[in-house]
Amino acid sequence: MRHDVPMETNDLSTLESCNSTWLFDDAAHRFRRILKDGSRNGGVATPWQDFSKVELDDDSDSFSVWLNPEGTRRLRSWRHRSHCEACGGEVTTELNLAAIAALGGR
Ligand SMILES: [Zn+2]
Repeated sequence: MRHDVPMETNDLSTLESCNSTWLFDDAAHRFRRILKDGSRNGGVATPWQDFSKVELDDDSDSFSVWLNPEGTRRLRSWRHRSHCEACGGEVTTELNLAAIAALGGR
């Protein structure tokens, strides 16, 4: 059974990829990523960036973030799974949830 609807964290939607957690502020049409590299200090967050929409691919684990309404600028990434073939499933999400909390209320 698959549950691919993005989880709600406050009013942010999140997606897990192998090397970062993506936070989407749907109301403001902006997103940022928390990179998992910086685990010692709870992750490194990128600045907020505008996006148009998120496209989830049900046939694979990929998703696309449209940076403009025309879709000529897109970011593509792959969702991280608990038994993830892409990274071996070694990346935990706990640190990133802590990092989200550390960002505080907006
Ligand atoms: Zn992975």
